[in-house]
Amino acid sequence: MRTQLSILALGLAVGGCALESEPDAKHETSTGGTGGSSVSTGGGWSSGGAAGAAGSAGAAGSGGAAGAAGSGGAAGDTGIGGTGGTGATGGSSSTGGTGGTKTNDCPRVEVSVAAGATLNVRPTPATSGAAVGTLANGDIVDVLAQVQGEAVSGNTLWFQIPTPKGYISAAFASCTLKQPPVATTPDGYYLPLKCGTSAKIAQGNDGSFSHQGKAFYAYDFSIPLGTPMVAMADGVVKYLYDKTGPGDPCYNGGGSSCYPYANYVVLKHGDGKLTTYKHLNKVSVTLGQKVKRGSVIGLSGSTGYSTGPHAHVMRMDDCGQYSCQSIPLKFVDVGGDHVPNTGQVVTSGNCP
Ligand SMILES: [Zn+2]
Repeated sequence: MRTQLSILALGLAVGGCALESEPDAKHETSTGGTGGSSVSTGGGWSSGGAAGAAGSAGAAGSGGAAGAAGSGGAAGDTGIGGTGGTGATGGSSSTGGTGGTKTNDCPRVEVSVAAGATLNVRPTPATSGAAVGTLANGDIVDVLAQVQGEAVSGNTLWFQIPTPKGYISAAFASCTLKQPPVATTPDGYYLPLKCGTSAKIAQGNDGSFSHQGKAFYAYDFSIPLGTPMVAMADGVVKYLYDKTGPGDPCYNGGGSSCYPYANYVVLKHGDGKLTTYKHLNKVSVTLGQKVKRGSVIGLSGSTGYSTGPHAHVMRMDDCGQYSCQSIPLKFVDVGGDHVPNTGQVVTSGNCP
């Protein structure tokens, strides 16, 4: 138990840096007013000179002039001007809104960061507060309000979002009318192995080796390197890590220092819960991809903190990041109480 706690502590300490790093906000190059053309209705800056002046300054600074000037009209009646978010990737658009307001043309934002990177959700519209969660590239989240905050890449606009509750910089999110992908409610969870594949549970729930605390409800499947891992239910790829490759010291099993370097895939399901598939040799899905139950998400391996080829699988609450508290996971295709024990051999009924 003491060992487990220290492993968790290490994972949190190191993982927080290696896996959830915010894109280098201060050095991110602004791509300039992409929203401009879609918000050409114009409309005055009803908030008056101050906002106008700020808009001009922004335009001069990074060239997203259309984004800044065009979107003002929509919010004119509020006297605040500037949804700005439509030009969110443009530095200048950020100077549009002078205060928090919700406008109909920006009900949601879509996150735009490098593949594999995550965007931090902050408790206040500034990069100084500890992140309360993260979002992945392509995530679409509701917008509660648009507010001004710390300039990120010259963009001072931030979006207040409900889940995870906090703020994200408009330097990495743009207004969208698109709906987030909807995962169908799963008809229960099935084993993460191809239909007909058998495997032994090397460690079940409440396992004495490492399945305690956050990983209390985890399962380790003893399977050969390269065994296809499949989705336990329909879902959407929410997080992944695939940077540990051949030649890496944490590729073929490693000690606790390798904890942050396990390749993994995390899916989000229709019931709002997550499932994780860890120690993968290869990841074969991309962020935001919709996957059907039984479809391959990667190949098993021994990456990260691992003593040999196996797959670590668990179901988790969605806490806004890739690693959350595990929750009970029952497999439809396992008999009895649907909770296989350590040493039990199971055969996948995860069939089309
Ligand atoms: Zn495990």
